[in-house]
Amino acid sequence: MITADVESVAVATTRAELSEILALRAGKVALVPTMGALHEGHASLVRHARELAEAGTVVVSIFVNPLQFAAGEDLDRYPRTLEADLELCGAAGADVVFAPSVDEVYPGGVPQVTVDPGLLGSVLEGEVRPGHFRGVLTVVAKLFGLVRPDIAVFGEKDYQQLVLIKRMVSDLCMPVHVVGAPTVREEGGLARSSRNRYLSPDERSRALILNEALGAAAANATGGVEAARQAALTVLAKEPQIIVDYVEVRAEDLGDPTPHAPARALIAARVGTTRLIDNSPIVF
Ligand code: AMP
Repeated sequence: MITADVESVAVATTRAELSEILALRAGKVALVPTMGALHEGHASLVRHARELAEAGTVVVSIFVNPLQFAAGEDLDRYPRTLEADLELCGAAGADVVFAPSVDEVYPGGVPQVTVDPGLLGSVLEGEVRPGHFRGVLTVVAKLFGLVRPDIAVFGEKDYQQLVLIKRMVSDLCMPVHVVGAPTVREEGGLARSSRNRYLSPDERSRALILNEALGAAAANATGGVEAARQAALTVLAKEPQIIVDYVEVRAEDLGDPTPHAPARALIAARVGTTRLIDNSPIVF
């Protein structure tokens, strides 16, 4: 069903259509890159972008980027819900949705030149998912080139991704202001994610333990990094069916934590066949 909200959003599926729409742009352009299957977490980023762009243009990109999926990951079964996504984008204040095909983004196939995420790209998520952040940074650099935004909004939900994008923009002198937005959670504290729809009702209730573990880390932070980490691990051990990939406490920039400076606790775990990540700020 096409609603008034959908009608208010211009949809571009090619670079040419995007350029045509953006040629009319006036004021600031804010971009929210996504892979679709949008939920309230994405909507909060779009609303944030709407505020930051003021009377300018808010662009949401919807693109499931093959370059950031390794063989055996969920590229083929990743949920695709374009019609509902357009409605959500319209309701949250987007002006333009850019939903290109793989060929439109990578007309020559896998690109020869890609963005190297450096050392931070091979730890935490990067250690479990080799090549993931090269794929993410490369597509984000391409989206920045195509949309030429003044502002780009990313969620703290993917904290390492946010840190790496800020790093790329700074190290490669990209003229984009990167803004992080807080994680939106379901009732009970589970971080909203497009992958939550893979969870059975039983897995979904087990998955609440991730947020509980982050709470335990924060509550025990006065005891130091290892106390915070162990507190999270103890909580996670209550659900032996959840396989923990990592629990880490790092500085805000994901370097080594230092006493009394703000830090971040990060968790990745598998619930059945679904891999979930979450994180929260920690103060020692
Ligand atoms: P994705 O479509 O999963 O690639 O996510 C697109 C953007 O939405 C990324 O910047 C994510 O960090 C952000 N995001 C995903 N889930 C949430 C959430 N629960 N709260 C806030 N931002 C989110």
